[in-house]
Amino acid sequence: MVSDFDQLFYADSYQTVFSAKVTDQKSSDGKYWLALTQTCFYPEGGGQPGDQGEIFVSSLDSVDNNQDKQVIKVLHTILKDDIIWHQVSDLIPEGTEVQGEIDFNNRYDLMQQHSAEHIVSGIVNRKYGYDNVGFNINNEEMTFDFNGDLTWEQILEIEDEANQAVFKNIPIEIHYLTPEQQQSWTYRSKLELGENVRVVVVPNYDTCACAGTHLKTTGEIGQIKIIKRESYKGGVRLTALCGLRALKYFQKLHEVIQETGELLSANLDNLVELVKYNQTEILELKQEINKRNNAWLELYKKNISPNTQQIIIKNQIFNKNEWLYVCRYLFEKVEKFVCLLTEISAEKYMIFMYSETVDLRAKIPELKKTFDFKGGGNASSIQGPLIGDYQKIVKFLSEIA
Ligand SMILES: [Zn+2]
Repeated sequence: MVSDFDQLFYADSYQTVFSAKVTDQKSSDGKYWLALTQTCFYPEGGGQPGDQGEIFVSSLDSVDNNQDKQVIKVLHTILKDDIIWHQVSDLIPEGTEVQGEIDFNNRYDLMQQHSAEHIVSGIVNRKYGYDNVGFNINNEEMTFDFNGDLTWEQILEIEDEANQAVFKNIPIEIHYLTPEQQQSWTYRSKLELGENVRVVVVPNYDTCACAGTHLKTTGEIGQIKIIKRESYKGGVRLTALCGLRALKYFQKLHEVIQETGELLSANLDNLVELVKYNQTEILELKQEINKRNNAWLELYKKNISPNTQQIIIKNQIFNKNEWLYVCRYLFEKVEKFVCLLTEISAEKYMIFMYSETVDLRAKIPELKKTFDFKGGGNASSIQGPLIGDYQKIVKFLSEIA
């Protein structure tokens, strides 16, 4: 966590460009790092990812000519040994004068998530007494962990209240507390008394020690949407989307529901009912099909004459999950083998064979030699795609064993 609050990103979290000089540079594990005299790039910490952006190096005679500027990408920013390190695409020498520009869209998005996190955690703390014990923002979503459980109903209430704080467009305050103030103030994340404690206050909602960057007002969050609840380490983990992320999520939901609704000729009010109805109907149809297939199988078996050597069925009924059961069932009245041939297209079949008396594995090389057979198997069963003329296949199989 940054303890030096004399940083550009603390003075103004909306400042995007700055000038600086390279004070140090290093490469480790194939990554390049630069340190600067000052920076707007926030280093990863307290759940907030490090900033990204660009660093520009001007040639001496063309300070204002963009074309002559060397552009170096800043991929990540971290704090190590009290130094802010910018992970960059290229190294530049110590002493070089540079201009930096953070990717503000990315920073703004992170501030929307982070300020929202404070509001939600403040509400949870006040209403239920739980502490935020884990917080992370990644490219897609934000998660926060609490050391107590919340039902989905409670979460929806918290979400409503948090969005009320957004609608009220409350100015977010930053305070630097003296050791005396630290003792008298009540705030979350009160870890240890030190010289520098920075407290972020959302009046009436939250007061929390924090070294992250924040929005000026709560209205800029736009919207807070909690999308998931999971039990986590005896408490609960919530996943949330705020700002543009919440809008993108809503747009995606809308698209999926719209498309699904059109497919089922349903609207938002009866979509779930219709899906349930369709599921029941599919289940009933499956049961009906099974009943008919079993009746057919039973009748077929009854009509197998005694001493039948083998059965070859051009199968249109049974699928790949049923063939083994069917073959075993019929094999009870057969001497050598049962074979199902499912036609996929002209002269293209799926072959399923089963035997308890013939070593089918030994027949595979011959089958491959005679036909285009791409399957395999073991002594009692073989299966796979096979290309060949039906009559020839039947003749081949009849001569087996
Ligand atoms: Zn924070």
